[in-house]
Amino acid sequence: MGKVVIIGAGGVATVAAHKLAQNSDVFNEIMIASRTKKKCDAIAADLKARYGVTVKTAQVDADNVADLTALLKQFQPELVMNLALPYQDLHIMDACLAAGCNYLDTANYEPLDEAKYQYSWQWAYQDKFKQTGLTAILGCGFDPGVTGVYTAYAAKHHFDEIHELDIVDCNAGDHHKAFATNFNPEINIREITQKGRYYLNGKWEQTGALEIHEPLTYPEVGVRESYLMYHEELESLVKNFPTIKRARFWMTFGQEYLTHLRVIQDIGMARIDEIDYNGQKIVPIQFLKAVLPAPETLGANYTGWTSIGCRIKGVKDGKEKTYYIYNNCSHEAAYKETGTQGVSYTTGVPAMTGAYMFMTGKWSGKGVFNVEEFNPDPFLAKVAESGLPWHEIINGDLEF
Ligand code: NDP
Repeated sequence: MGKVVIIGAGGVATVAAHKLAQNSDVFNEIMIASRTKKKCDAIAADLKARYGVTVKTAQVDADNVADLTALLKQFQPELVMNLALPYQDLHIMDACLAAGCNYLDTANYEPLDEAKYQYSWQWAYQDKFKQTGLTAILGCGFDPGVTGVYTAYAAKHHFDEIHELDIVDCNAGDHHKAFATNFNPEINIREITQKGRYYLNGKWEQTGALEIHEPLTYPEVGVRESYLMYHEELESLVKNFPTIKRARFWMTFGQEYLTHLRVIQDIGMARIDEIDYNGQKIVPIQFLKAVLPAPETLGANYTGWTSIGCRIKGVKDGKEKTYYIYNNCSHEAAYKETGTQGVSYTTGVPAMTGAYMFMTGKWSGKGVFNVEEFNPDPFLAKVAESGLPWHEIINGDLEF
C-alpha cells in the first residue's frame, strides 16, 4: 500500500523499523537512510532475519537538502519519518517539499548553536505544506506525541473544559551503567539543563533548572521524585486547548543521575560552543556524546518500567472531574521484541502508529499539524495493539 523512508538509524529508528516491518501490509516498501549506512544495514539484516522483510538502505546527510531531495525523488516515498535529530527537522521538511513527500517527526526543531526548541520554525511551514497539498505531522513520539493524543482523547470523551494538565514522565528502569542517557545524549542533556517553564493563566512562568520538584506516585512503580521542566508539547497543547489554565511537565530523575549531570555541567562538558583542543575545534557536549553509551546499546541489561501519562482536571456536565491516562512499558519486553530499551520503544511505536494513521487515511489534512489536532480514537486503538496499552483512572487523586 505505501512507501516510507525512515531517516536516522538510532534507537528510535530501530524500533520504528521493527514496527513498520510488523505492519508490512500497510508499509510494503521501506527504506532506512542515515548518516552511517552500516547502522542502516544492521537494522535491515535484523528485520530480514526476524520478519523476512526486505528493506532498502542508503547513506545520506540529511543536512544536505540537495542530496536528500535527490534520494527522495529517486525512491518516491509517500511519507518521510524523520527519526534523526531535531537539528535536521527544517532541512528534511525542505527536502520533502522539493520532492513532494509527506513528513512526520518526533521532536521539534532546535538550532545547533542554541539550546532553544520551539514550534515557531516548523509552524512557519504551514502555507508551504498547504500549497503543495502535503501533510506534516509534528511531534509523534511519546512526549511529545502520545501525551498530546491522550489530552485530545480526554477533551473528546471526558471533559467539557480541561483546566489543569500535568504530564508526568517516570523512567523507573535501571540500565546498570553509572551514567547514560536514554535517548541521544546531546539532545537529552541540552533539554534537562534548560530553565524550567510552565503555563499559568495565559502566561509562561520561568523557574531555575529542575528547581521545583515533588514526590509523585506512579502506578505499579511507586513514589519517585519528579522535577518540573519545560517540554515542547506544552506549547502546542495550550494553543489547541485554550481552556487550559495551568500546564506543566514533570520528569523523574535519580540522585545519581543528577549528581553526574551537575559534575558534567560544572566541568564544562555540557557546553555547546566550540573550543580549541590541540588546534582542532570541538564542541564539549558532542565529545561527551562520543564517549557515553549509545542509547540503542542500553537494552540488554535494562530492567524495570517507564510510566508516562497525563493527569488532567476539568469540568464535565458542570461537575469537577479528574482523569489520569497512562502507559507503563517494560524495558525488558521492549528489548526482547526489538533489541532496544523502553525509551526508544515508547517513541518508535507511536512514530509508526502516526505513520499508520497517515497511510490508512485516518489522519489527513494539508498543512502542518500537531498530533492532538487529529482524531485520537484510531491512534489509541492502534498504539495499544502495537505494544503500548493505556489505562485510565477516573476521579482518582492526582496529587496536585
Ligand atoms: P540517536 O542518537 O540514537 O539516533 C539519531 C540518528 O540520527 C543516528 O543514527 C544518527 O546518525 C542520525 N543522524 C544524525 N544526524 C544526521 C544527519 N545529518 N543525517 C542523517 N542522519 C543523521 O537518537 P534517538 O534514536 O535516541 O532519537 C531520535 C529522535 O527521537 C531525536 O530527535 C530525539 O529527540 C527524539 N526523541 C523523541 C522522544 C519523544 O517521546 N517524542 C523521546 C526520545 C527521543 P549516526 O548513527 O551517524 O550518528
